[in-house]
Amino acid sequence: MNIILLGPPGAGKGTQARRLVDERNMVQLSTGDMLRAARTSGTEMGKIVADVMDRGDLVTDEIVIGLIREELEKDQASGGYIFDGFPRTLAQADALGRLLIDMGENLDAVVEMQVDDEALVARITARATCASCGEVYNDNTKPIPADGKCSNCGSTEITRRADDNEESLRTRLLAYYKQTSPLIGYYYAKGDLKSVDGLASMDEVSASIAKALE
Ligand code: AMP
Repeated sequence: MNIILLGPPGAGKGTQARRLVDERNMVQLSTGDMLRAARTSGTEMGKIVADVMDRGDLVTDEIVIGLIREELEKDQASGGYIFDGFPRTLAQADALGRLLIDMGENLDAVVEMQVDDEALVARITARATCASCGEVYNDNTKPIPADGKCSNCGSTEITRRADDNEESLRTRLLAYYKQTSPLIGYYYAKGDLKSVDGLASMDEVSASIAKALE
């Protein structure tokens, strides 16, 4: 089964994707994580995208489609792929459709995670992530443990993303509404769209996603 998790920044796509990976042996393909990895490893592409990402703008279609193509060529997903943060433009959606056809694969569902903007700002500005395992913390609802160690993997590298500040977030939200939200209509018209309430508790959201994937 191949699915897309669609939703604005802070909707909880990464958290739910990791749960699906654990539960269903799926492979998470997060273009955001791939781009961040490219930055930390100092590749040419990482340097090119760094400013764009920090501002909160979208990286070019060519770069992200290339990253996804490379991953799909590895053919690693026995349980299928979860596309997390990709596609974000109609051109990316078309490219993904073609890549899947070339592989003889289908897109089984597009899960839209609905959240309101105020909740997103509150969530994102309070967010911290374990650099080692991706566990997500929130200053209000799930604070970083007092000893500074990740409760999931024990790493002490719990960091805040450079683009998790109010200014970048506004730009990211604008990019979402201008460039990504048209995909909701696009996938609805194709008959692939399922919408879930992303503001419910993590377990409730997981249950709604499971139901949407039945
Ligand atoms: P994310 O971790 O998904 O919130 O992505 C962080 C940042 O990476 C975004 O604000 C964009 O600058 C960039 N990015 C991630 N995925 C894409 C994509 N599919 N298309 C364009 N830019 C992307």
